[in-house]
Amino acid sequence: MSGFGLQEIAGIVGGTIRSGATSLLNPTIQTIAIDSRTIADVHSCLFFALRGVRHDGHAYVEELYLRGVRSFVVCEPVDTAIFQDAVFIQVDDSLHALQQLSAAVRAQYHYPVLAITGSNGKTIVKEWLYDLLHQSVKIVRSPKSYNSQVGVPLSVWNMSDQFDLAIFEAGISLPGEMEKLAAVIQPTIGIFTNIGEAHQENFSTLAQKLEEKLKLFEHCNTIIYRKDQLEVDRLMHALYGNSDKKLLAWSASELPADFELQMTVGAASTRIEYRWKEQAFAVQVPFTDSASLENIGHCLAFILASDYDCDAVRRAFARLQAVAMRLELKQGINNCLLINDYYNSDINSLTIALQFLRSQALNERRPRVLILSDIEQSGFSDEQLAEAVNRLIVAYGVGRLIAIGSGFYKCRHLFGPNAHFYQTTEAFLAAFQPADFKNEHILLKGARDFRFERIAALLQKKYHQTQLEVDLNNLVENLNRYRAQLNPETKITIMVKAFSYGSGTVEIARALEFQQVDYLAVAVADEGLELRQAGISTPIIVMNPEEHSFEMMLEYQLEPNIYSIDLFEKFDQAARRMAVTNFPIHLKLETGMHRLGFSSPDELNEIAERVPRAGRLRIQSVFSHLAASDSPEHDEFTREQFGVFNRLSAPVVANQPNKVIRHILNSAGIERFPEFQMEMVRLGIGLYGVSQSDALQAETVARWSTVVSQVKKVKEGNTVGYGRKGQVEYPKRIAIIPVGYADGYDRRLSNGAGRVWIAGRQYPVIGNICMDMTMIDVSGADVQPGDPVELMGEHIRLTDLAQWMGTIPYEVLTGISQRVRRVYVQE
Ligand SMILES: *Cc1c(COP(=O)(O)O)cnc(C)c1O
Repeated sequence: MSGFGLQEIAGIVGGTIRSGATSLLNPTIQTIAIDSRTIADVHSCLFFALRGVRHDGHAYVEELYLRGVRSFVVCEPVDTAIFQDAVFIQVDDSLHALQQLSAAVRAQYHYPVLAITGSNGKTIVKEWLYDLLHQSVKIVRSPKSYNSQVGVPLSVWNMSDQFDLAIFEAGISLPGEMEKLAAVIQPTIGIFTNIGEAHQENFSTLAQKLEEKLKLFEHCNTIIYRKDQLEVDRLMHALYGNSDKKLLAWSASELPADFELQMTVGAASTRIEYRWKEQAFAVQVPFTDSASLENIGHCLAFILASDYDCDAVRRAFARLQAVAMRLELKQGINNCLLINDYYNSDINSLTIALQFLRSQALNERRPRVLILSDIEQSGFSDEQLAEAVNRLIVAYGVGRLIAIGSGFYKCRHLFGPNAHFYQTTEAFLAAFQPADFKNEHILLKGARDFRFERIAALLQKKYHQTQLEVDLNNLVENLNRYRAQLNPETKITIMVKAFSYGSGTVEIARALEFQQVDYLAVAVADEGLELRQAGISTPIIVMNPEEHSFEMMLEYQLEPNIYSIDLFEKFDQAARRMAVTNFPIHLKLETGMHRLGFSSPDELNEIAERVPRAGRLRIQSVFSHLAASDSPEHDEFTREQFGVFNRLSAPVVANQPNKVIRHILNSAGIERFPEFQMEMVRLGIGLYGVSQSDALQAETVARWSTVVSQVKKVKEGNTVGYGRKGQVEYPKRIAIIPVGYADGYDRRLSNGAGRVWIAGRQYPVIGNICMDMTMIDVSGADVQPGDPVELMGEHIRLTDLAQWMGTIPYEVLTGISQRVRRVYVQE
């Protein structure tokens, strides 16, 4: 929102303008972008081509030019002659330039700027401060959890003179990063939430990490932190005790502090008493857990330190709600797809939600519908707001807008014919007709006061309450952790066979395509076809190609795993019939698994000779599979497999016109034998949350849950379930849950072998598991119908469940039946 011209920007970032057309230097820049997919307004946008380990923004310059973008910041030479009327600002480091530009935007404003850092709670403290204060102060804040080297400058760019307070979060994972964020944010006041173990791996000690984080506050005049964290207190004083900064330490314990809170925790809420300026006050908050109470302590300290304390703000504490930062993807009625995001409604988060909508709808022709509540506190006039929304609607291909709230209703004349208006959510609900929504992608985006969950309840397809929630953020996190084990140039194939290990094929493939993985591997050709029909264009390997699908594979660019000479002949014939050239195939070598694969050097030599001569096919890769990469006792055998692979593959690789990719490592192999990564690896179970080493610690991706249907008392002497296996020796309370072996809740979990998690505790299965129901012994606990039950997730680990069943995690995941609906969540 800076309104800087390009010439000015070049000066700010120390860049050189390279362009034939100086007359074009006049337009002012309204938006900046780093991701080619997010650009809405091509004319006033400045694109920063960032160079990452995996991404290179320079690769998109041409595409963006064709779409009409004319202003770029680059750090690689560009042939300006082919981009005739474009302007390039050439710099040494385009990320640094982005940060410099945002720092210049920041320097224009003189209202308070709060920076929040720490290991946990940054986003929640920021969002809660917004909730508590937005009635009294106009606040600009980081969207979602934008707190990185890229996220911070993008957040700060949104500052303008329409606001009175800025709140930005800052997060780092490497030494040296915080100084850069501090230079962009230039905070006047800081909150340090807490220190934990997150991202420890890149720092030698906790103190080093802490010291690095505290650099954010170098130029603040006030710093808020919690006295009870003694290490933080010590270092804060060591670093800043002798400066003119005001250190405002609060405590909720007996420790004397600048600001002391008395917290009385009740059943469902907590009363917080404090004294300020000689007076006693109290607030009530609807939380009892220590993490939430700590976040609230920080909010309260900031509000007092900044003199925002008043009756209205104190009352607002009672209305705080858990921060749901996630976008949920659900199956809707009438073959619709529903994206729920009803935590807040502002232009930034609307843009992010629209990006998610578009990434889901990529290459699909289903129309897009946006149901949007009034935009809070935009700082814009009605006309400006309408213009902004109209621009986003066009940019993200939304065909139909349903706007709810008196704000939009007032200015409905500013919208086109495909917009519909309701004064309230109730008015919309009263008029709702299910038949109005068919085969569409629907984004529900609203501020919390509008309670769009009532709309979601109508639009959502009704299933039984059992679901498998797949966390796409953790999936991507796991991908990145495995990538970090590898050399940057090593390619990666993701195994999405068997419905992506039970997690769902198309949605997972979309998320992976977005992350630019090199290959996807499916079990059979039909799985590949489904991905192609959903618009996935990443290369796909079919592990078990069947003769009847060869022509379809050739047509849809599905590349076969060739494991025998017979299979090769048949595929080669199909290739001749279809008259293809240079079609990639993958040769599987037998090295010790004794499953599929070539073991004869003669057969391999024959193929290696024939393929380039005929020109129909191309040996894209040679690979093999490890039999026991996760078992240290077989490491010698595993090393022999590598040896066999090298001997068999060397002649094949040597005699091809193209560079043949070699690969052998699966998930455990990547962790345990990175020295054998060669040109590619194949990641499977690790992506879905099962890793070997503590160092990597893959995050939980799938959470399987249900709710209690009924709770009953059973008198002693009775039995529970089929076969009378569940003995009741003393009076018991039994909870019935609507999940059984037909859902994949394995019968081997019967009679106490398995446990579930309800309201903070594990409870055992009692009796035999039925087809659609299971009984849980909840004696002595206050479990009620409707209580959520975790079958697998954070508390009941996938590996525990596998152990209880006497099997491996692979079988648990792939055994969860298709009737359990999959729900995808993403921040
Ligand atoms: C399933 C599979 C993998 C992935 O194995 P994980 O142990 O899940 O990482 C790799 N390669 C082949 C050939 C596979 O079939």
